[in-house]
Amino acid sequence: MKPAAFEYVCPDTLEEALSYLDLWGDSAKILAGGQSLVPLLNMRLAQPQYIIDINRLPGLSGITRHPDTRTVEIGALVRHHQLISNPILLAHASLLSEAARYIGHIAIRSRGTIGGSIAHADPSGELPLAVTALRGHLKVRSRHSQRTIPIEDFFGGYYMTALEPNELIYAVEVLESPIRTGCAVKEFQRRHGDFALASAAAAITVDESGAVLQARVAVGGVAPNAVTCSKVEEALCGQTNNNQFSLAAELVAQHIDPPEDIQASADYRRHLAIALAAEAIDSAYERALWAKEEA
Ligand SMILES: Cc1cc2nc3c(=O)[nH]c(=O)nc-3n(C[C@H](O)[C@H](O)[C@H](O)COP(=O)(O)OP(=O)(O)OC[C@H]3O[C@@H](n4cnc5c(N)ncnc54)[C@H](O)[C@@H]3O)c2cc1C
Repeated sequence: MKPAAFEYVCPDTLEEALSYLDLWGDSAKILAGGQSLVPLLNMRLAQPQYIIDINRLPGLSGITRHPDTRTVEIGALVRHHQLISNPILLAHASLLSEAARYIGHIAIRSRGTIGGSIAHADPSGELPLAVTALRGHLKVRSRHSQRTIPIEDFFGGYYMTALEPNELIYAVEVLESPIRTGCAVKEFQRRHGDFALASAAAAITVDESGAVLQARVAVGGVAPNAVTCSKVEEALCGQTNNNQFSLAAELVAQHIDPPEDIQASADYRRHLAIALAAEAIDSAYERALWAKEEA
C-alpha cells in the first residue's frame, strides 16, 4: 500500500521544527529514522496531515559525557548502529550498546534512532528496555518550554508516552555506570531480526571483593512497557553466588502480569522473562568480575 497524502517539511533548525509542531500538533508526525513510522504510513495505520522530517536538525546526533554530573547524553538522532560502537557508551553506559546489537537487521540499525525508538514505545523495544533498566531521563522540548522526564514517568501503556503533541525528544540522558560494572541483554525471538517475545537487561556492579554492590534489572515484552524489577535488584545486593542469582531472578514474576496472544501464552512469557533475567544477571556479573580485574 501507499501512504495517504501528506505535506512534508524538512526544517534546518530545532526552533523551526518546534514552530511547526506547535502549529500542527496532533495532525503532524515527526520523521526520524522512519523505521517504524514509514511502515505505519504505508499500511495507513497512521495518516498524519503533515510530516516534519528532523534529520537535518543540528545538535541532535552527538554522544557526550558530562564528568561533573557523571551522566552521558545521547542526542535523539543517534542511530542504533552508532550506539553499538561508540567508545563513550562502551566505557560508561555499555547496556545501551548491548541492547542496540539486538535490534532488527542491519538496515534497521543503520537508520533507526534512539529518540524514535523511545518515542515509539514498543513493549519489546530494546532501547526502551535498556533506558528503563538504567533509570534514564528524556530531555524534551516544545516551542516555549523544555523539561526532563524520568523514564518511569514517560511510558503510559502500549505505544503511549507522556509526550505532548507539540513536544519532541532531543536527548536521552543516563547516569554513567560505576566502575566494576558489567552489562548484558538476553532475549528470545522466533526468527532472527524479529521483535523479542521477551527480553531482559541487567547492569551489575561489584565491590572489590566481588559481591554485588548495585543491580539494575528490567524485563521487556511481558507488559505494556518495559518493567524495572526492584525486588530482584534488592535480592541481588551482597550476593556472589549463581544459585542466589537464579532465586533472585524468580522474583521477576512479582513485577509482571504478561499478556496472552497468538505468539505466546502468559505462562510461557513469564517463564521466558525469568529465565532470560537469570541469564542476563549471570552474564552481567561475569563481565563485572572482568571489569574488577581490570580496575
Ligand atoms: C523489519 C523491522 C524490524 C525491527 N526490529 C526491531 C527490533 O527488533 N527491536 C526494536 O527495538 N525495534 C525494531 N524495529 C524498529 C526500529 O528500531 C525503529 O528504528 C524505531 O522503533 C523507531 O525509530 P526511528 O528513528 O526509525 O523512528 P520513526 O520511525 O521515524 O518514528 C517512530 C515514532 O516516533 C516519533 N518520533 C521519532 N523521533 C522522535 C523524537 N525525537 N521526538 C518525538 N517523537 C519522535 C515519530 O513521530 C513516530 O511516531 C524494527 C523495524 C522494522 C521495520
